[in-house]
Amino acid sequence: MAEAPRPPSQEFHSVLAENRVFPPSPEFASRAHIRSMEDYRRLWDEAERDPDAYWGARAREELYWKEPFQTVLDWKPPHARWFVEGRTNLAYNCLDRHLDKRRDKTAILFEGEPGDRRKVTYGELTRDVNRLANGLRSLGVRKGDRVGIYLPMIPEAAVAMLACARIGAVHSVVFGGFSAEALLERMNDAGARVLLTADGGWRKGVVVPLLENVRKALPQMNSLERVVVFQRTTQGTLQLSGKELAWSELVSKQSDTCEPEWVESEHPLFILYTSGSTGKPKGVLHTTGGYAVNASLTTRWVFDLKDEDVYWCTADVGWVTGHSYVVYGPLMNGATTVIYEGAPNHPGPDRFWDLIAREKITILYTAPTAIRAFMRLGDEHPKRHDLSSLRVLGSVGEPINPEAWMWYRDVIGGGRCPVVDTWWQTETGSIMLSPLPGATPTKPGSATLPLPGIHTEVLDRQGNSVPANQGGLLFVTRPWPSMLRTVYGDPDRYVRTYFSELPGKYFTGDGARRDNDGYFWLMGRVDDVVNVAGHRLGTAEVESALVAHKSVSEAAVVGRPDELKGTALVAFVTLKQGVAPSPELKKELGAHVTKEIGAIARPDEIRFAEGLPKTRSGKIMRRLLRDVAGGKQTTGDVTTLEDLNVLATLRNNEE
Ligand code: ATP
Ligand code: MG
Repeated sequence: MAEAPRPPSQEFHSVLAENRVFPPSPEFASRAHIRSMEDYRRLWDEAERDPDAYWGARAREELYWKEPFQTVLDWKPPHARWFVEGRTNLAYNCLDRHLDKRRDKTAILFEGEPGDRRKVTYGELTRDVNRLANGLRSLGVRKGDRVGIYLPMIPEAAVAMLACARIGAVHSVVFGGFSAEALLERMNDAGARVLLTADGGWRKGVVVPLLENVRKALPQMNSLERVVVFQRTTQGTLQLSGKELAWSELVSKQSDTCEPEWVESEHPLFILYTSGSTGKPKGVLHTTGGYAVNASLTTRWVFDLKDEDVYWCTADVGWVTGHSYVVYGPLMNGATTVIYEGAPNHPGPDRFWDLIAREKITILYTAPTAIRAFMRLGDEHPKRHDLSSLRVLGSVGEPINPEAWMWYRDVIGGGRCPVVDTWWQTETGSIMLSPLPGATPTKPGSATLPLPGIHTEVLDRQGNSVPANQGGLLFVTRPWPSMLRTVYGDPDRYVRTYFSELPGKYFTGDGARRDNDGYFWLMGRVDDVVNVAGHRLGTAEVESALVAHKSVSEAAVVGRPDELKGTALVAFVTLKQGVAPSPELKKELGAHVTKEIGAIARPDEIRFAEGLPKTRSGKIMRRLLRDVAGGKQTTGDVTTLEDLNVLATLRNNEE
């Protein structure tokens, strides 16, 4: 007989046992910005004791302020204003500030998918940004106006963002892989006046028809006045009409200098829509000063960024990671940031490794979904290349399974590079939980500890602290400079989504636990938690157990209503290349989970799949899998789904 359901004694049960610890090498630590746990704790204590003094000092160090601030924080929960009286300009901080020392240094190292390469120096980038900024002003764009950006991963994407920042326009970047429909929805929501786009971009050897998508949406984009088109993929003269205007024409007659708009610290910088993993995307609004301070600081600390580094964050600028860690963070630090246009597996499975070896890239920041895809393809591809230039490896976007973490460390990092698993969100603006590579001993699968000044806690729904090794809800209990300020056009949703669980405390939507060392382990979305016979299990750990099996590439676990148990566990599993699905393998995987975790986590049903439904940013969309597992039609928002066919195939595979 099935065990009678017991009332849950806590929010989540933890099932993972991971004991490996990797301290930073003394050699790495001796040269790092933050060299020891003592250094980390000293900063932490300083921030805890006097947050205003701490953040005030950071803000003065990280940014040039045209006018100084007097108030560090004005906190009227749940609304924060940071560095209130200060005036600054982010383009100035990313560009002009470096020109004395770094005019000829490469700011952007670009590689197009077809193999074209460009090095853009700080001097050239400043000129390009100023011309476009002047061009936008000539179109009537003023401080506070919204400008859409729908571009491939080319230097002009950064130019576009910085040109907006220079004149105080609010940019809203839409990922170039999104459809006309998704673009339309975002542009109308943001009320964009101008859209910066391109004829197309290269992906997997074919052209992504950006302009075609814009034209489909244009008749219904009710606020849009002009469309500026950069020529990337076509030859000859662009055929444009109506509201369309060639980028080259707009900038050719503009001056190389442009007086920055010195904006208030709380002036909006950008609106960015979340990935839509859990529902309809939210238009997250970030402002200037606070966002900039955290983006700049975390880029240097978390990646131990130095002047001589060649830094590559593989995220698209359509995601917050691309905003903070491709464009703003690295450029504020005067670094060389790599932009690669295309697919990671084009023309071959070693495109990334070839690029790293050729350009002697030193810091790589990518996502678990990419790491698992590379693992699936086999070790021979990275092993063909000299990756010895790498010194720090970062991960972001999803919980990284210990198996993938170890592979990243050993096969890509040669066992030599610290792995920084960084937890944060569009809403947080910058990294919140992460090891500091010269200080923090790392554990595979843990985002370790909050950065100094960041107060994260695992609480239950009543706001009580959850004891070590038990799961709960992850909150940020004090405001931080780069926190979102609102959901654009929907201030109630801001309060409802983030501050109604516990008043005054920011609710992340994620589940987590802390171990005996106080390390944080992300357990998945609270929405994704499954309740099996009274035990609330975080899906991430069951998935990690499956991924630890030699045949498994990826796994997603969801619940299906079950008369007997309350919820049955359904696992969707993709297999490594060359492994054939079979009923025996299903049995073996079930037994494997029982051995790794225990019978409670053994999936009731295992389904092999060719692929899992993912957002365009590469996150598994478990809410769609829940529908599939429960035999329901999908009613939620699917505009951010990468490939509708994956969903159709999963439905057809039902046994
Ligand atoms: P939506 O909010 O629209 O559902 P989303 O949450 O996927 O979409 P993002 O802001 O891009 O949108 O992603 C943030 C989320 O990604 C976090 O809340 C967390 O669930 C997950 N995440 C990011 N980094 C990590 C990490 N290092 N470990 C575990 N989870 C992570
Ligand atoms: Mg989210």
